[in-house]
Amino acid sequence: MNIRDNTDGAFLADVEQWLDATLARMRTRFAPHEWVHAECRTAWNAELCAANLVALDWPRELGGRNLSTAALIKFHEMCAVRRAPQPLNSIAHSILAPTLLKFGTEEQKRSFLEGIRLGTEVWCQGYSEPGSGSDLASVRTRASREGDGWVVNGHKVWTTQAHAARWCFALVRTDPDSRAHKGLSFMLVDLKAAGARVEPIRQITGEADYNEVFLEQVHVPDGNLVGAPGDGWRIAMAAAEYERGIYFLPRVIQLEAELQEVETLFERAAPAEPASTRLAATLATLSDTCFVIRCRVDAILRRVATGSTPGTDGTVLKLLWSETRQALQEIRMELLGEAAMLGPDSGGRFSEAAVATREFLWSRAETIVAGTSEIQRNIIAERVLGLPKG
Ligand SMILES: Cc1cc2nc3c(=O)[nH]c(=O)nc-3n(C[C@H](O)[C@H](O)[C@H](O)COP(=O)(O)OP(=O)(O)OC[C@H]3O[C@@H](n4cnc5c(N)ncnc54)[C@H](O)[C@@H]3O)c2cc1C
Repeated sequence: MNIRDNTDGAFLADVEQWLDATLARMRTRFAPHEWVHAECRTAWNAELCAANLVALDWPRELGGRNLSTAALIKFHEMCAVRRAPQPLNSIAHSILAPTLLKFGTEEQKRSFLEGIRLGTEVWCQGYSEPGSGSDLASVRTRASREGDGWVVNGHKVWTTQAHAARWCFALVRTDPDSRAHKGLSFMLVDLKAAGARVEPIRQITGEADYNEVFLEQVHVPDGNLVGAPGDGWRIAMAAAEYERGIYFLPRVIQLEAELQEVETLFERAAPAEPASTRLAATLATLSDTCFVIRCRVDAILRRVATGSTPGTDGTVLKLLWSETRQALQEIRMELLGEAAMLGPDSGGRFSEAAVATREFLWSRAETIVAGTSEIQRNIIAERVLGLPKG
């Protein structure tokens, strides 16, 4: 179908129909519990790209639709309420593309944005290293000047989707004498280049969505450095803001649905005392927190639509959401009893009956990814509450 984009309103009306038709088709291919798997997320990425729906707010000369941030948020809300899968290349859509649009050269925009828009090139984020996770500024991967480019040596870890990715946007140290965040640079590394090696990490769920990336004498041309040498920290910090709170939309909607499921499960399981009173009280608290999270998401998105960034409000939200979801999954496991013992099959896939187990196991990572709960609390203590550093 032809999606009009002459106004936000025309776009949203057309895209609503497109979403309903395309998701109905997806449901004939994938059962709901398969929507988290890479095959389904790849298929959804391809659908979005074929309809030119990953470049909504990019300028027209780069193939985008030049729509407003408000339309972008509305589109993501429409996807979230329909429980659409997360597109496989979402890191590129939400983090790298806006970073290139802001900091990239014209040549970089032309070279790298098209593959994201058309879905031909998957990206991963290479920041964390063994020993440099929470303390990201201690990155040790080294890029040395050589001829018309750089030679990179180092070891990245927890790199989501690196096994599916052609490219990695990485933080590397270009100034060997620098310390902490000074002397870091933002580089686009070709994972198919000689010397780049990706090895999977098997997760507690049995799946392998994360990787170690080894870089040994990998040549990176000068044109793949975004910004100037030493600008990496500033660019990486700005990049983190580009998700603009949209990250939380599908997550809060999923949390609300899961809360309802667990409340129903509680009524059906009718646990004996004293567990019943304890679980009822915890569920009531989680329900209140869920409402607070929803109000905070809505408030952030209203502000983002008028041009601001989530800032420390995003930190508070990440902490509340991840810890609430973890607590909810724990209650679900308790109520499920022995059914909670079901795990993945030998191929690492979860049957419909075992989905709750996968979500419980997966939720353990949510208080770590994108900054651990301890780090979020440090930020809140220092920047929101203004407490002195310990
Ligand atoms: C599911 C998942 C996906 C990820 N995807 C990516 C990715 O695509 N790309 C990427 O670059 N990284 C990725 N990461 C890595 C993630 O950013 C790091 O795991 C995270 O920043 C924590 O770093 P770490 O694992 O090195 O733990 P560490 O920093 O070693 O922390 C270990 C423990 O010490 C605590 N701690 C550390 N410092 C402090 C402090 N100052 N005060 C109080 N407590 C502290 C932490 O809270 C934690 O409990 C991913 C992680 C997960 C779980």
